[in-house]
Amino acid sequence: MLKALVVDDIPDNVKLLTYDLQDAGYDVVSATNGKEAMRIIQDVGPQIVLSDWMMPEMDGLELCQAIRNSDLASYTYIIMLTAHSDQCRLVEAFDAGADDFLAKPFEGPELLARVQAGSRIVALEEELARDRLALHKMNAELCILNDKLERWATTDDLTALGNRREGMRYLDECWATTKRHGQSLSCLILDIDHFKACNDQFGHSTGDRILRGTADVLRNATRAGERTFRIGGEEFLVVCPSTDSEAATITAERLRAEVESNTIRHKCGTFKVTISVGAASLTESHDTAEDLLGAADRALYAAKAAGRNCVVADNPTPSRNHRENRAVAT
Ligand code: GH3
Ligand code: MG
Ligand code: MG
Repeated sequence: MLKALVVDDIPDNVKLLTYDLQDAGYDVVSATNGKEAMRIIQDVGPQIVLSDWMMPEMDGLELCQAIRNSDLASYTYIIMLTAHSDQCRLVEAFDAGADDFLAKPFEGPELLARVQAGSRIVALEEELARDRLALHKMNAELCILNDKLERWATTDDLTALGNRREGMRYLDECWATTKRHGQSLSCLILDIDHFKACNDQFGHSTGDRILRGTADVLRNATRAGERTFRIGGEEFLVVCPSTDSEAATITAERLRAEVESNTIRHKCGTFKVTISVGAASLTESHDTAEDLLGAADRALYAAKAAGRNCVVADNPTPSRNHRENRAVAT
């Protein structure tokens, strides 16, 4: 049932209006001045306000302005009741936020017709507000979904590192910046040694645990600007912007040593693994980011051939630490 508020400083007028509206099925509340009306509006939230113009303390015009300036949850339809002498000021009332007016003295049927027109507007406003709210909710859900999609598209599930696609995107981005500013750029490809044997011996879930543990070591050991990605089964890419070949070899060696000294704990034991690392730094001979990656891949292949658990740089930095290694349960 729609709630209507009748505001008039003359009690008989309030009574008459109240009867007419109650007869028509409205839930009616009343006030005898603008201030009291405002309190009722805030407490009860009537959808329709019928207000006299001339009232003590706060007149109908001020009440209109107060309603429009307050932060009400839903739309309030305002009908001004005017004596003939006020009609020339009607523009002021509409400017203040009134929706309609009723010239005094008025007949019951006209009053109800105007209130019904107001009810239709109120219903439409409420429908609009519901639609707006639903749209707002949908928009917020879409934003969350988009974030999730973005994360799914760029993140490796197992290790929470960036995935291959994201790694290539970052490498391309660094490549473009490097070319623009004439800086250095290096990338490392790191591959766990004898990982298949580890999987075969201890099971896939242990293999997964080792992948996660190794990813954690790499994530924690990389420095500002460097980013680590899982680009294959047991293969990682570290992109090192503003890094020349000498610094890249030092970083690669640091990462190799960190992985070697780390112990991975799993329910069936503790494990140690090693990695081989291929490092490549941007030179004149690289035309694209893929060329640079290819060079790192070749260096990795050389590191495997050199005995594993070592670093090989694509340019002539010597490799080291050729020790035979495999994951062992301790
Ligand atoms: P190398 O020292 O020459 O690198 O030998 P490797 O055994 O590490 O390399 P290989 O390419 O022969 O084997 C890689 C293994 O990695 C095979 C595959 O089953 C395993 N692998 C790939 N992805 C996953 C994964 O998500 N989880 C687990 N547990 N194993 C994986
Ligand atoms: Mg391997
Ligand atoms: Mg591999």
